[in-house]
Parts: sequence; C-alpha cells; structure tokens
Amino acid sequence: MTLPLTYAQAAERLLDWYAVCGRTLPWRGSKDPYAVWVSEIMLQQTQVKTVIPYFERFMKRFPTLTHLARASQEEVYRIWEGLGYYRRASQLHEAARILSRDHAGIFPGDPALIRQLPGIGDYTAGAIASIAFDLPVAAVDGNVMRVISRFGGLSSNISSTAGRREISAEADGLHRSGMGRPGDLTQALMELGALVCTPKNPQCPGCPWQTACMAYELSCPETFPVKSEKKAKTLGDVACGVLIREGRILLCRRSAGGIWANLWTLPMSNEFTGEAAALKDLLHLLTPLGAIPSMIPIEQIRHTFTHKIWQIRVYPCPITGGPAAESAEGSPCEASPGMLPDSLWIPLKQLPRYPMPAPMRKLSALVPWL
Ligand code: SF4
Repeated sequence: MTLPLTYAQAAERLLDWYAVCGRTLPWRGSKDPYAVWVSEIMLQQTQVKTVIPYFERFMKRFPTLTHLARASQEEVYRIWEGLGYYRRASQLHEAARILSRDHAGIFPGDPALIRQLPGIGDYTAGAIASIAFDLPVAAVDGNVMRVISRFGGLSSNISSTAGRREISAEADGLHRSGMGRPGDLTQALMELGALVCTPKNPQCPGCPWQTACMAYELSCPETFPVKSEKKAKTLGDVACGVLIREGRILLCRRSAGGIWANLWTLPMSNEFTGEAAALKDLLHLLTPLGAIPSMIPIEQIRHTFTHKIWQIRVYPCPITGGPAAESAEGSPCEASPGMLPDSLWIPLKQLPRYPMPAPMRKLSALVPWL
C-alpha cells in the first residue's frame, strides 16, 4: 500500500463524493451487461458528450444482444457512422454473434470469459465485471492511472509494465477494501478523472482526496503520471477521386483489415508522402475506367488518427471513355470487376445508405456542388 490513506478510507471518501457529484448518464444505473458493454466500447477514445446520442440511438435500434447479433454489418456501421474507430463496431458485432451462438445470447459473468471476446481488453473486462456483475475487479484506463498516480505521488513510469502493474495493484486494493459496491467504485474513479482530476488544471479544491493527495501537497499534480514522451504523429497524403456517370457516383469498399475497414469511400489512393505521389497512384487506379483526375484538388481535409494524420485531397475526375455503368435505373451496379474490386456506381440520392467514415461523408456532401 503506497496510497496516503487506507484503502477503506480512500474508497469511502470517493464513494461519498460520487453519490453527490456523479453525473446522470444514459448507461449509469443499469446492471445490464449488454448496455454497460456498449457504453464502454463507445467511450474508448471518445468523449461522453459525443457518445450520449450514439448510445441512445444504438440501444433503440439494437436493444438486446440478440438484436445486435442478428443485424447486418451495414446496419451496425450505419448507426455507428461518425463515432469513428470503426473497428470497435465490427468487434462489438462479432462478439455479439459469438455470444449468441456459444452462450445462448447471455453475457458471461466471468471476467476471464469476458476478456476472450473480440475488442475487450483488461480495462473493458474489468469495467463490465465490476459495473454489471458487482465483482471486485479493477478497471484501469488512462483516467484511473492519472488519478491514482497523483493521489499516491507514484513516480513509476506508466509507459512501463512495472508502472502499470503498480497502479493496478493500488486499484485492486481499493476494490478489496471491503467497502463493497465495486460498480460504483469503478465509476467513481472514472468520474473523478473525468470531472476533477483532469489532465490539465485539476480542480483539487473539489476533490475528495485533496487533504491526503501527495501530488497536491507537492503542488505539482500535472507532473503525474510519469510517462515516456509520445511519438510524433506521421503525416501522409491521400488522393480521392469524384467520378460521376449517368447520375451515379463511384464508391469503393475498404478491405476487411486496416483503416476504415469495410466502410465505403470515394476511390482513393494508398497513403504516400507528398501530394504528387498520391495523385499518381490515383491516376493509375482510375485510368482503366477512362477517368483522369484533374491536377488541382477541389477540396482537402485533414484527418487525425491515433498515430497518424492524413491530408486527404479530392480531385474531380472527368470520364472520357471506359466501360459504362450498366444496370437497371436507380440501382447500384458494379464497376468493371478487376479494376477496382468491391466498387459500385451508386445513384447519388442513395449515398446516405452507405456507411462511410466521417471525413468521406463530409467530402461526399460536396458532390452535388461539383
Ligand atoms: S487532489 Fe488534485 S491531484 Fe490529487 S487526486 Fe484530487 S484532483 Fe487529483
């Protein structure tokens, strides 16, 4: 025990604070493991205020695990569209299918089984086990690491396994303190990190741990937690083409692995360093369709991922020849198989039906003006 209060004292103060100051959120108060799971997955890398409308829409459309398991991937992506990190949606869907097939649609209460599901790591397994099943299992994410390391003045580096282990041991200690209410304790720790012990300008006067907090006493909360410098994000260039023919626009579906897996986008180059290289790749891709990208982009957008930034430029691509988009009027049709696999000519008014990553949706909204 390296915390400045006993675990029981620290847990009691925290729970008292949470009872008064915890926010009312759509997933709070529910012991339904499905709802807890969906909320925890949505909250990864995403702010609470962004998640709320998505969570409500998702639960309305897929109120139970069985509803989610029976849905098509397209439907799931459509409801998820705009929330980003789409791999979360596909893993949620895959896990629902596994639970439906192997567990009769019942969410397991065993943390080890929960941990085996796609998209669930130690943190999410701990959150579901404690919140939905009231098991004394810690859930340690960046928020919790920050709060505990400041409270205890812990100087070990949280980028190291040893540093993370030390924080997890303290979080486990709080859960074993005998105060009960593991679900509330997990949420109280998260809430303290979100509302009070924030990365910048922590609001120490409103903190239930202030009188015992080591970082506060040292007047340097923001120097905790100790961690290694983040690597700078790399910058990549991507070129996209707008091809319109007979009232249809060409969209391509991304492959099942990697960025924007299975989502629909404008035809796009691979990632390069430099605008010219990306444009050359787009030209190579579209020439068999009789389309030549113009040299000047009509729009560009910068999109930030966890580890990289893409500068996405959009080029109009007039079509001067190539195979026609043949199909019954108003239906999507395939674009010359072999040239662009998994691509469709889609009637313009059907664009909203196709799940797209947010920057592509933004760019495709410009299409009527092109
Ligand atoms: S007193 Fe300040 S630094 Fe310490 S745990 Fe509370 S908010 Fe964080």
